[in-house]
Amino acid sequence: MSGRVLRLPSFAKINLGLEVLGVRQDGYHELRTIFQTIDLRDDVEIRSGGGDVTVRCDHPGVPTGQQNLAWRAASELRRYAKRTGGVEIRITKRIPVAGGMGGGSSNAAAVLLGLDRLWRLGLGPEGLHTVARRIGADVPYFLMGGTALGLGRGDEVYPLWRQVRVHVVVADPGRPISTAAVFGRVDRSLTPRENSNRIFRFISRDLEGKGTAFPILANDLEEAALEEAPDLAEQVRRIRGILVREGAVSASLSGSGSSFFGLFDDLQRARRAHADLAAEGFSAYRGRTLSLDQYRSLWRRALGPQGRRPR
Ligand code: ATP
Repeated sequence: MSGRVLRLPSFAKINLGLEVLGVRQDGYHELRTIFQTIDLRDDVEIRSGGGDVTVRCDHPGVPTGQQNLAWRAASELRRYAKRTGGVEIRITKRIPVAGGMGGGSSNAAAVLLGLDRLWRLGLGPEGLHTVARRIGADVPYFLMGGTALGLGRGDEVYPLWRQVRVHVVVADPGRPISTAAVFGRVDRSLTPRENSNRIFRFISRDLEGKGTAFPILANDLEEAALEEAPDLAEQVRRIRGILVREGAVSASLSGSGSSFFGLFDDLQRARRAHADLAAEGFSAYRGRTLSLDQYRSLWRRALGPQGRRPR
């Protein structure tokens, strides 16, 4: 297949905090969360040409057909923009699969942003929002990145004025957890939330990125995730122990798990936590949060100069 090629970054997210407020009329959950992009990334290559949408991925646990969110993104945008051309997508995975780090949603957003440029649609992140939310609740967030408040199903996204800038250490217990199963368990235990103003309290604090407000935050899915995967409880206890011992200002499950992260003000502490986790046999990653500006400029660089929009 020949045609133009774009090589794109597809970053992971963590949820700095997550509140499940209830079940909505449409069956989805009403959420309040703070999304944060980090510099752990997959690579997504898109090449225009041919007549079909095809996906290849180097990770055996990722479906390559219609269930792949990147496939769905290309197909939905093709329909929306009334295009007939095909596209070949290649994904190199580094983000843990089914680890609560939004890898599939991020890949989908990367395909939307890339095809918008390749096909010169001129939609931009705002214009792509409608298509993005049809693919998945977390996809709209990845059109924006940085530190952002997510409301509704998580698909109403608002950038926060203060962007969190800290070191991040993530441990991947290598145990995929189904997001749907975790939400199913939450439903059975859902009672009105006493802590449902935690995220707004966090935002209204003078958030300096120094960790002062992080202890307010929690992840309402953690208990249900550990009920769903009881074999994980011991690992999570060990991971949390290491992160806290090394001085993490926050240590939490990301999304519905099973990735578990720690935030650090201090690089040396983050390095030590990373080394300790590796020494205990955990697959671990160390990096940084990406602010809204950093995310935008990395994307600008990847997409290259904007061509003229066809009339
Ligand atoms: P969720 O958005 O459901 O919380 P997650 O962040 O926990 O997901 P993902 O890595 O996005 O985890 O994958 C969840 C499931 O989606 C995987 O088990 C996989 O079968 C499927 N999937 C579809 N497309 C992709 C993709 N491009 N990358 C990874 N997984 C994908």
